[in-house]
Formats: sequence, C-alpha cells, structure tokens
Amino acid sequence: MAARVDLDGKPIKPLTICMIGAGGFIGSHLCEKLMAETPHKVMALDVYSDKIKHLLEPAGAHPWSDRIQFHRLNIKNDSRLEGLIKMSDLTINLAAICTPADYNTRPLDTIYSNFIDALPVVKYCSENNKRLIHFSTCEVYGKTIGSFLPKDSPLRKEPEYFVLKEDESPCIFGPIEKQRWSYACAKQLIERLIYAEGAENGLEFTIVRPFNWIGPRMDFIPGIDGPSEGVPRVLACFSNNLLRHEPLKLVDGGVSQRTFVYIKDAIEAVMLMIENPARANGHIFNVGNPNNEVTVRQLAEMMTDVYSKVSGEPSLEEPTVDVSSQEFYGAGYDDSDKRIPDMTIIHKQLGWDPKTSLWDLLESTLTYQHRTYAEAMKQAIAKPAAN
Ligand code: NAD
Ligand code: UDP
Repeated sequence: MAARVDLDGKPIKPLTICMIGAGGFIGSHLCEKLMAETPHKVMALDVYSDKIKHLLEPAGAHPWSDRIQFHRLNIKNDSRLEGLIKMSDLTINLAAICTPADYNTRPLDTIYSNFIDALPVVKYCSENNKRLIHFSTCEVYGKTIGSFLPKDSPLRKEPEYFVLKEDESPCIFGPIEKQRWSYACAKQLIERLIYAEGAENGLEFTIVRPFNWIGPRMDFIPGIDGPSEGVPRVLACFSNNLLRHEPLKLVDGGVSQRTFVYIKDAIEAVMLMIENPARANGHIFNVGNPNNEVTVRQLAEMMTDVYSKVSGEPSLEEPTVDVSSQEFYGAGYDDSDKRIPDMTIIHKQLGWDPKTSLWDLLESTLTYQHRTYAEAMKQAIAKPAAN
C-alpha cells in the first residue's frame, strides 16, 4: 500500500481506532473503507455484527484480517470500554438510537442512548487524552427560522432564514410534549458537553452533523431482516413499499424538505477528519449535499421512477398515499421543515465537497436493495398463501 500523506503533505502514521457502533450503517461503510484503503487498525464495538460480517469472516481470510477485531459489547454496561479506548489513538462514537419512529415512542431509551450512554465515552477520552470523533446530527438545528415567518413572507426565500451554519444558526426545537425532539435535545447536550471538555480540559474532539446520509445497508426491511412492525428511516420505508408493490406513504403530505448525500461521499469526509487531526480538531462539521434537495413527495416520485428502471417492473398507477403523522408515528411526532447544510467550514478545513447526484445515488442504492431483497420479499409474500 502506498504511503499515505495528509492534506499538508505529511506522512500519516497507522492508527488504532476504537469504533463504537461499528456494526451499523455508517460504521460498516467506514470499516470497509479503512480496511480496503488504509493501514489503520479498527477495534469494532457493537451489539450486532451482521453488517460487517463480510469484513470479519472467514477469519484470517482477508488481507486486512489482522487489522480488524470485533468486540460484541453494549457500552451501557461493559467494563471493557475504558481499556479499549485507552489502547486506541482515536475513538469514533457512532452508537445511538437514531430512527425517528423511536424518538416519540421510546423517548427515555432515546435520551439515555444519545446522552447518558455517551457520557463515559467522552469522559474516558478526556481523562486519557484520547482524540474523539463524535457523531451528532443535523437535527440539532431543529426547525428553520424561516418556518416561523408568515407563509407568504418573501424573507422565506433568503438563505439566512434557512441555511444551517455550524457556528451561527440557533437550535430550534418544539415543546416538550412533542417528544420527537428528545433525540435532538440529547444530541445537543452531548455536543455542548464535548465542546466544554475541549474548552476546559483540552479534549481533542471533532463533532460530525450528518445530513441524511443514505445508501446500501441503511436500516432494515421490515419483515425481511428486521421486525415486521418496525419503522425505519425514509429510504428503507420507501424501499420496503417498492419491494412490496404498495404505495409509498407520505407523512403529512410529504412537504418536508431534505438534502440527501451518498454514503460513499460522506465517508470521504470522515476519512479526511480521521487523517487530518490538526485541521479537524475543535470543529463541528455539517456533512451533507446542499445540491440534492427535494421534498419527501419528490423523493417518493424519484424513487418510484428509479426503482422501475432498475427492477424492470412497471410502477403503480397511484404510487403514493397520504398518511397523517399521528397514524404513522403516533402522538408527539413533529418534523424538521428544511435542511440545507452550509458547506463553508468543511470546505475550508478539509477541502471536501459532495459529488453524487440524487438520481445517481438512488440508482446505485435501489439496485442494491433490489438485488438484496427482491427474492426474499417474493418468498415472504408467497408464504402465507402456501400455508
Ligand atoms: P445505525 O443505527 O445503523 O448504527 C448505530 C449502531 O450503534 C448500531 O449498529 C447499534 O447496534 C450500535 N449501538 C447502539 N447502541 C449501542 C450500545 N449501547 N452499545 C453498543 N453498540 C450500540 O445508525 P447510523 O445511521 O450508522 O448512525 C450512526 C450515527 O450517526 C448515530 O450517532 C446517528 O445519530 C448519527 N446520524 C446518522 C445520520 C444518517 O444520515 N445516517 C443522520 C444523523 C445522525
Ligand atoms: N417519511 C415519510 N414516509 C415514510 C417515512 C418517512 O413521509 O414512510 C418522512 C418523515 O416524516 C420525514 C422524512 O420522511 O419528513 C425523513 O424521515 P427520516 O425517517 O428519514 O428521518 P429525518 O430526516 O426526519 O431525521
């Protein structure tokens, strides 16, 4: 493997990385990249390993086999955590409950997972002078300032009323009874704690705010590789509908807006943070693609078209159906109206820009979904009839 250099031309020393939540969507892509393209070692911590099985098995069979070690543990109650952080140069914390359907229905688990369970990780990094890359969320911005203006106000079109900036934008959440915001609030408090550890105790940290990263291996397909009644994030919900040939459900009219970034583009940004500590420490980074903005309704329409292309199956005459948030998520749901990331800081510090268009990233992702799940779905649908 050619010697790696950082953005300032200095050689990069091989690192040992303690990756918590390595068995999830983002963790699996990050492990893949680290194994295929770098000499770094990963101690992968998670309660599940299914999404990184291909990197771990068969034991000893891959060129990277001696650089990745899986530790099945729950950070809530495992005394091995501090030792593993001490043995590493860098800790990356991805562990979290992070599906909106949980925020209003399991608010206690959500708050414990995103704040209380992250506390020892921050403390061990700070006490042992270890660098921390912590995964927060774009949801800490909450709603845009513009959403509070009258519907016909021309100011709604001014970027300063909706573009989200790490060092300027306020965090605007709904009332406590809207338990949707339990996640954002817990993430905000852990960000503040990490920032304070940096300011008062010299913790070297980087905070990542992902803006809807999507791609293969995100979440699960209900009834196939996850619970039948489970509600994953929108990519998996819509994929599930497409695989079942049922209309895509638009919550409260599908008017909310999102920007989607391809997981492989976003992982490039994380690699730059890992390998350029001098440029990344002390910063909070938005990581998203401001060019890929759609309403949820537009996303549903585009996914319907792309899926028809990659599967060769015609789309339904009525591809979407409206559903209320009360019906879909239950009481206490609320929504972020619009999420455009400002890219100034990450561009300046790390020279990173997203590349992949929404159509292209949906085409590769839905090709993966079709290949991975279409056959299993056919069998699952046929089963009740056969019985
Ligand atoms: P994910 O659910 O796929 O991955 C999280 C992983 O953490 C899971 O494998 C889970 O088993 C593990 N985990 C949770 N609690 C744990 C515990 N107590 N002990 C050990 N392991 C535990 O989610 P993801 O999309 O990969 O997200 C990773 C991080 O990025 C999260 O912190 C999330 O809040 C943040 N994030 C992601 C997005 C996105 O677009 N994917 C957006 C905003 C924020
Ligand atoms: N959504 C939807 N139908 C679904 C799933 C989600 O209309 O089947 C909407 C949801 O209400 C939100 C957006 O899609 O406005 C994105 O939801 P996601 O769960 O991906 O997470 P978020 O971006 O809100 O964190």
